[in-house]
Amino acid sequence: MTDPLDILHHTFGFSGFRGVQQQVVDRVMAGANTLAVMPTGAGKSLCYQVPALARPGTALVVSPLIALMHDQIRAADGFGIRAAALTSADDNRAETIARLKSGDLDLLYVAPERATGAGFRDLIGRIPLALIAIDEAHCVSEWGHDFRPDYRLLRPLLDTLDAPRLALTATADKATRADILVQLGIPADGLILAGFDRPNIRYAIRPRDGISGQLKALLAEQPGPGIVYAPSRAATEKIAESLSASGRRTLPYHAGLDPRVRAANQAAFVASEDMVIAATIAFGMGIDKPDVRFVAHAGLPKSIEAYYQETGRAGRDGDPAEAHLFWGAEDFSRARRRIETEVPDERRAGERTRLNALAALVEAPGCRRAILLRHFGETPPASCGNCDNCLAPPATVDATEAARKLLSA
Ligand code: ADP
Ligand code: MG
Repeated sequence: MTDPLDILHHTFGFSGFRGVQQQVVDRVMAGANTLAVMPTGAGKSLCYQVPALARPGTALVVSPLIALMHDQIRAADGFGIRAAALTSADDNRAETIARLKSGDLDLLYVAPERATGAGFRDLIGRIPLALIAIDEAHCVSEWGHDFRPDYRLLRPLLDTLDAPRLALTATADKATRADILVQLGIPADGLILAGFDRPNIRYAIRPRDGISGQLKALLAEQPGPGIVYAPSRAATEKIAESLSASGRRTLPYHAGLDPRVRAANQAAFVASEDMVIAATIAFGMGIDKPDVRFVAHAGLPKSIEAYYQETGRAGRDGDPAEAHLFWGAEDFSRARRRIETEVPDERRAGERTRLNALAALVEAPGCRRAILLRHFGETPPASCGNCDNCLAPPATVDATEAARKLLSA
């Protein structure tokens, strides 16, 4: 075994661990099963990369999306870490397996579908494993905002392998965390929770009232780069057009665009110091742009977790940034209708709870940050001084009006 701190300095060139990283790495080095809940940008990857190099054997990393795996492999390459993925789409399957068998891989990425598939256990069972990392571990829980049934089937595989497990997620409320622990066989004292506060982000939430004018007013005050999340592909195009016409370069981003156009729009945004991207929630995962100055939601996000994750893309550099949410009563009625007609029975109660939590956030006359942090199990002060309600307490009549609209929706 090698010293984690040496690896941090020499392989990564970082001067020290950040936040709870050290605590997580220590537990994994000691062979203990662990769940690390750390906000986006906190450096979750390092928590499995360092023990992967410090412990003998290969680290198996379960990851939900091929695009995410490729981002991670590219980043690992940059540090000189030997990483590959076993996916159905891959041409170099035979080569990857050969490298795995000869101990030539530090990290092996695999999708849950493949990890639980026939044959994988036989293959991986014969490989010395440094650890098993389960990234985006909230996918294991029906309470999580992104349930993936195959994550639920991982347990038998984990139980046959002799390696510590490290589950990682940015967004898990209390119920989701409890579920992850049970589903993945991690003891309750294996939970490591990082602080969720993003003090440099100013939160503002208000009813939609001519969204195009509201966005233009926002841009007039905010010259830096920003993301506008829109509820549909058509809406991203419309917003991009209207904001561009008002003199601010804005490009659309959604899954229906030609992949080349989509990639070009993303690259233009990442390189820009003043551009806006009008996007569906397809935009964001794996995008590293530290100087995003604002994130605006033109419609209701899916949940508080989604809101936190999407707004968390603002101000990763630590400089002041803004999160603006514009909501309408019709967003709630649409979401309610969807829950009652499209969501399977067993998930309906959870989705209702999630929607009610969002309603409580948008209606709140008090501190927005306090609501967010309490949602993630923290005990924040009653007022943060950096959200709309703390900076300018709402007139009672407005709150009542908003609540009335919401209830009659
Ligand atoms: P997460 O998965 O938690 O969102 P990442 O693992 O992608 O975050 O890390 C975010 C960024 O922070 C990466 O560029 C990573 O290299 C950097 N980083 C992580 N840990 C450290 C550290 N201890 N010192 C400096 N930079 C770090
Ligand atoms: Mg990550």
